[in-house]
Amino acid sequence: MPSIFTKIIAGEIPCYKIAEDDNFFAFLDINPNAKGHTLCVPKKEVDKLLDLDEPTFMGLMAFSRKVGKAIEAAIPCDRVGLTVIGLEVPHVHVHLIPLKSMENATFQYKERMTPAMFEETAQKIRQKL
Ligand code: 5GP
Repeated sequence: MPSIFTKIIAGEIPCYKIAEDDNFFAFLDINPNAKGHTLCVPKKEVDKLLDLDEPTFMGLMAFSRKVGKAIEAAIPCDRVGLTVIGLEVPHVHVHLIPLKSMENATFQYKERMTPAMFEETAQKIRQKL
């Protein structure tokens, strides 16, 4: 069965899209630690980061760097944190999280956002790509 992220990439489930190329896709996390929290996903469906072939691993890092720079330019924060967990969705994804404090990195505190806030945030990040 395709993962929820494969369905998002295919357009079967809506998302607030940030960027896409031939191999990777970025969109806002629906339950963000902070405004601008973005997920970068390889289109190739693989569960664990370290199981990616090396070109896909390196490509995902380069894609995440580009998206992370746009987040840093668009969203007021001290820096953008990058983390990979994958305990909820078995399809590799890099979390890019605008950090102001350690709280933003813990996945305990969640930012409440309306659809309009998500759309505005996605637009601001896309403009910096
Ligand atoms: P992890 O697998 O790294 O523990 O966490 C999965 C992340 O994916 C969570 O931060 C969760 O909010 C996000 N997520 C889960 N389902 C969806 C979805 O349908 N759409 C979006 N945009 N994010 C999702």
